[in-house]
Amino acid sequence: MYNNNPVSKLNGNVTLILNASYIPLAVCSSKRALCLYFLDKIDIIHNYNDYVHSPSMKVRIPSVVKLKRYVKHNNLDVVLNRKNLLIRDNFSCQYCLSKSHLTVDHILPKEKGGSDTWENLIIACSPCNSKKGNRTPKEANMKLMKQARKPNRFIYFKQFVKEKNIDWENYIFSRKN
Ligand SMILES: [Zn+2]
Repeated sequence: MYNNNPVSKLNGNVTLILNASYIPLAVCSSKRALCLYFLDKIDIIHNYNDYVHSPSMKVRIPSVVKLKRYVKHNNLDVVLNRKNLLIRDNFSCQYCLSKSHLTVDHILPKEKGGSDTWENLIIACSPCNSKKGNRTPKEANMKLMKQARKPNRFIYFKQFVKEKNIDWENYIFSRKN
């Protein structure tokens, strides 16, 4: 459908930027991606079905783009915080898979020298957290659904993948977290 307001049409869309090697680098607004395109910095790999119209032209909104020049980018680290722990653990208690009253649990309790690291923090519902108390899972006879591991940046991209961003899957899900 014709849309007279290109800016509003663009605002809701985000574009996945791949390095020249096809490794996902970042997510930006589609508006920014189009700017990069007009500056000849990127190639467009996939488009959304939507167009942006201006008086002089009609442009498809990019969904996945690739940088023309490879950039060195070694930092695939994810910041350790509650939100990213929730994403890593699929917003569910890692002892019973409950999705409510979620807290952050130290696998090895702080009092016993447990640290604030990806490997020692896990999402737990508050009943499981209280049940476990100041014990290790083994002492409390509770089993973790998975080993707590440090995720890489791909976990960050996953949160953007909705139905309309289906083109992204090929670039994100083929890699392990
Ligand atoms: Zn639980």
